[in-house]
Amino acid sequence: MATSDTALAAPAALVAQLVLANHILAARGVVDGFGHVSARHPSEADVFLLSRSRAPALVTAADIGCYDLEGNPLGEICGAPYLERFIHSEIYRARPDVMAVVHSHSPSVIPFGVTGQRLRPVFHMSGFLGSGSAHFDSRDSVGDSDLLIRSPALGRALATALGACACVLMRGHGSTVAGSSLQQAVYRAVYAEVNARMQTAAMGLGPVTYLSEREAALAAEANDSQTGRAWALWEHELAGTAET
Ligand code: MN
Repeated sequence: MATSDTALAAPAALVAQLVLANHILAARGVVDGFGHVSARHPSEADVFLLSRSRAPALVTAADIGCYDLEGNPLGEICGAPYLERFIHSEIYRARPDVMAVVHSHSPSVIPFGVTGQRLRPVFHMSGFLGSGSAHFDSRDSVGDSDLLIRSPALGRALATALGACACVLMRGHGSTVAGSSLQQAVYRAVYAEVNARMQTAAMGLGPVTYLSEREAALAAEANDSQTGRAWALWEHELAGTAET
């Protein structure tokens, strides 16, 4: 059972990577003033690390705190927590394989959520989309609302909708991706947005030949060994543009 001491034990290396993930996602246009990224604690499976409520580009190590799977901060956090932290807590609870989660309102993905179209892999870099994204509509759980995932119950409904997928579209709101590492989750969030742009363009031209499920799986496996290469570039491109 995690205790409040866990907050003090947040591994500095992971905190630094999470700060970097915040800045990379902002620089790539996946998040803006809103959106958030978290990482599961490497040795406390029922704890995850997340910034306090802050625009990702401005996040520093001092903003990162530990949370339990009820979405409660463990120990002191300076400032308010994100309202939608239950996205993270409930996905970590439902998916033991998930080590990092990115929630965003990245714009090219939104049209898919509101039309019920699945995001499907149009090129090998987005093989993680497999046979397609999952779909979530908050109206099915709570009727008309502000669409925010502001309770554990809504987080659970979202995690259920995600199922075993890598990406769930949230109707009229945004999307959430999960990964087995922080680098993989960031990669997936970046390429979900890229794929959405390309898929929209392709659908306007004519019938689309998507990667087959087998191609997608093989491509995802190949890409998973290369996420460090993209991460290194994105980190390099941040130099001089953000404080880390
Ligand atoms: Mn949101």
